[in-house]
Amino acid sequence: MSKAADNKESLELRTAAILVWRYLHLEERGTASAVEAIKAREKERIECFQESLQMILKGAGEIHYRINGGCVEAEADGLRFVALELPSQNNQEELTLVTLLGRCQRCGVETMSEPFYNLAGLGKMLEKFEPIHWHYCYGVGR
Ligand SMILES: [Zn+2]
Repeated sequence: MSKAADNKESLELRTAAILVWRYLHLEERGTASAVEAIKAREKERIECFQESLQMILKGAGEIHYRINGGCVEAEADGLRFVALELPSQNNQEELTLVTLLGRCQRCGVETMSEPFYNLAGLGKMLEKFEPIHWHYCYGVGR
């Protein structure tokens, strides 16, 4: 190969390398801000759930929150709670309701309960678990 050809090649390599680096750098920035946006949104969702759950579990011990499979979950005293997030309507704020994670007594599938709004509502779910109305029950008619 001639010297000129070598130079041409290295220039192209240089350009390509810079372009790749720029591209990756942009990608990284894009990913980082997307991750940040997702994290901020998750934090917001957890805070909404926290607010709703604490209204019910006044004075409860430690409550642990996490996002699990896209749902906001909380655990307190061995009970698992799931947020039921209702989209905003008529410009009203998004509503986060509290449900209990339990097993349907008819089919045994783990599901969220109907939402409840106070400690008595939670007590009722613990005594007689009532799956959320859209639960597809495999126990019906069997
Ligand atoms: Zn069922």
